[in-house]
Parts: sequence; C-alpha cells; structure tokens
Amino acid sequence: MPELAPYAVHPQASRGRKWPEPPAGMRSEFQRDRDRIVHSTSFRRLEYKTQVFVNHEGDHFRTRLTHSLEVAQIARSISRSLGLNEDLVEAIALAHDLGHTPFGHAGQEALNQCMREHGGFEHNLQSLRVVDALEQRYAEFDGLNLTFETREGIVKHCSRGNARELGDVGKRFLTGNSPSLEAQVTNLADEIAYNNHDVDDGLRSGVLSLDQLQEVALFDRHHRAVLERYPALTGRRLVHETVRRMIDTLVADLIRCSRDSILAHRPGSVADVRAGPVLIAFGPELTAQQQALKEFLRRHLYRDYRVNRMMAKAKRIIRELYQAFTSEPSLLPPDYRQRHEREGVRAVADYIAGMTDRYAVKEHKRLFTIGED
Ligand code: MG
Repeated sequence: MPELAPYAVHPQASRGRKWPEPPAGMRSEFQRDRDRIVHSTSFRRLEYKTQVFVNHEGDHFRTRLTHSLEVAQIARSISRSLGLNEDLVEAIALAHDLGHTPFGHAGQEALNQCMREHGGFEHNLQSLRVVDALEQRYAEFDGLNLTFETREGIVKHCSRGNARELGDVGKRFLTGNSPSLEAQVTNLADEIAYNNHDVDDGLRSGVLSLDQLQEVALFDRHHRAVLERYPALTGRRLVHETVRRMIDTLVADLIRCSRDSILAHRPGSVADVRAGPVLIAFGPELTAQQQALKEFLRRHLYRDYRVNRMMAKAKRIIRELYQAFTSEPSLLPPDYRQRHEREGVRAVADYIAGMTDRYAVKEHKRLFTIGED
C-alpha cells in the first residue's frame, strides 16, 4: 500500500476490537476486517438483494453485491490519491449495505413501519447489527468482531436516541464530531456509485430515456461531448461512454476539493480529523449538479409507476411476513423462535431483513399458499 498520510487511519493505531485478538500476521487489521466481511453469509446474500430493480427483472441490473463492489472500487481510487487507508475504505464499502432488507428501500420502509412501536428499522444500523451480533461464525464471539474504525464507517447516520444505545460508535452523533476521512470517502463513493449506476440501469430498463436525461446538466454535458467525438455512437456504448465520464468528473472534483480542504485545515492525525469539520466534499458546482441528478432520479426513476408497482408488491410481502411471524411465532424457524422468546419482535425483523428477495417471495408463498411446502 502507498504511504499513508498523517491524517489517515493507521492500522497500528486502531482502537481495536471488542474482543481482543492476537495480531493478524501477514494482514493489517483492516484487511482482516475485509476478509471477515467477504467470508460472511450476509455478504453472499447481497447477490440476491435488490438495489432498485428486483433481482428477477433481469440479469444485468445492479444488485446490492455489485453495488457494494462499485462503491469499494470508487472509494479505493479516491482513498489512494488522498493518502488514506485503502484497506479500511474497502472494508467499510463491502459492509455498508449488509443490513439491507430484501426489495431495496421499499423493503426497509415497510419493515420500519411494522417496527415503529418497537424502535423502528434502519438498514444502516442493521448493517452494524449484522457485523456486531447476527453473523455466527466464530467460536468465541457473536458477530465478526470488527475494528472500531470499520464499525464507525458503517454507521453513516443515526438518530440521537439510537446513538445513545450504540456506545462508542454512536458518540460522534451526540458530540457533533466527524468520522475518519476513510468513512467520509466511502459515504460519498456510495453516492457516486448509485447515482451513476441508477442512470445506467434506468436507461437499460427503459424507465428513463436519453431525451429526459438532457435536463440533467451533469449527464447532458458529457452526452454532448461523447457525440461530438463519436457522432455515430448509439445504444449501450453511448450510455457507457457518458456515464464513465460522469463518474470520472465526480471523482476528480471530489479529490481536488477534498485535498484543498485538507490542506486548509491541516489535520495532523485522525484525532484532529475527528475534532474538525467534514473535509471530504465536492465543490459547490458539482454538489449542486449531483443534487440535481439525485432529484431527477427520485422523480423519474424511483417513483415511476412500474417501479412503484413492484415496490407495492414488495411492501405487501414484507408486511404480511411480519404479521404472520409476530402473531404466530411458532411459524419461525427454531433458532429465530428461540430468539423471539428472548428478544421479542426484533428477532422477526432480523429474520426478515436477512432474507434475499427470492427467499422472501418463497417464504411468503410457503406461508400463504396452499400446496407450497
Ligand atoms: Mg449503498
């Protein structure tokens, strides 16, 4: 790994793990975190969880897994050029969506509704819960026993109430401190990844059109530039040439502007970073353009009637599963039933959140359709 800047998270200065362990040998502590994440069951499930388009709608749409890989790749590039810890951003990126429900945001909304009397459901906190408690692989502890720094990066946002319950990683939401620069980078790499791949998937699905996208400055500028250079280009190649330029512009701007703010604030250590303001950010122009793109996607993709129909169906499945399991816990598999006796409905939320799209559909059929086993 290239040399780390003084404001990067240095593995030997990690705040460590809840359950102390001997050093990882050949690997840094954050490489070890990444490896534990990649080997976890929840990570494998990401392959069958919806990003925007439900898994069975086509083989070429992003899933939570490919999304997480794109985030990791973007975050690593940014991290490397800023002298930050690439292993740490990779671990955070690969873990950041582990707590997502089936069916993307529709699934999360439905589960949050169901759980509103019981503390709600938030995928971000659920990702932490997965790595802290739900994964069961090690003899000596529940969860993956990740370092403080990876866990800190997973919790992107959090209410004050929840922050109080989170202990160490929740503190900064109460004191107004910043997370490490690695956490800040991964957060924005997530935005860059989904805004751009949602444009790509939106066009691929036919829900978005090139004509519509001309109202988005960031898209229009690059679309024109591509056509100027390759006037005969059409179809997928035209889309890809445009989207790759959009990603490049965002990444370059983020690196440039973040480097400027780092130089202006001169943090000498991670402690300085945590005590100071957020330093990883786009410049004002790209912030506005990225915001406009987000808004466009909200209006034209996430709320399109075809997407809405699928999402309404997904919500119904989640609600009905929740109702069935909470009113009749004997329908739960034995381990979750035991947990339900101890922890109540949170065990049901954990069970549902862990499901892949197709498993949720299957489980729903098994519960509600005669003739399914
Ligand atoms: Mg994400």
